[in-house]
Amino acid sequence: MEKERREEMKLEIESLSENEEFARVVIAVFLSRLDPTLEEIDDVKTAVSEAVTNAVIHGYQNGPGTIYIKAGIEGRLFTIEIQDTGAGIPDVGKAMEPMYTSDTTGERSGMGFSFMEAFMDEVEVTSALGKGTTVTMKKRIGE
Ligand code: ATP
Ligand code: MG
Repeated sequence: MEKERREEMKLEIESLSENEEFARVVIAVFLSRLDPTLEEIDDVKTAVSEAVTNAVIHGYQNGPGTIYIKAGIEGRLFTIEIQDTGAGIPDVGKAMEPMYTSDTTGERSGMGFSFMEAFMDEVEVTSALGKGTTVTMKKRIGE
């Protein structure tokens, strides 16, 4: 019987909008060892981008901070965790509703979590006010 592959990677990046593209590309390259389709790569990139953008904008409110990313492969299952130690979310259930945004400038549409849920198989959010937020997402690749 073929042995299930297990691999992990960690990435720590500064909370800067330039790093959104960096994180997205690094994760896409890591994911590529599962031979994903272009569509699967795009799905994961979009989800990563939304979660990192949220950490930069809402978690650290565009100020300094570190974003901790962990990704793993277990057989065909890809898992990614994106963590900030910023503001936290007062009501996760409400934050995850489509079109909910705490933004008052009219710039944001409140669709980030909805995209993550649409493009990944599973999205789990844990958050504590003043302590930060962790978004864990899973997707089966090639099944
Ligand atoms: P969009 O993603 O469409 O630009 P948005 O970021 O407001 O708009 P979501 O990504 O769905 O929408 O997030 C909903 C809300 O959850 C945010 O407005 C914010 O209040 C809260 N939120 C999301 N991620 C974080 C985070 N990492 N730290 C603190 N608050 C967060
Ligand atoms: Mg967002």
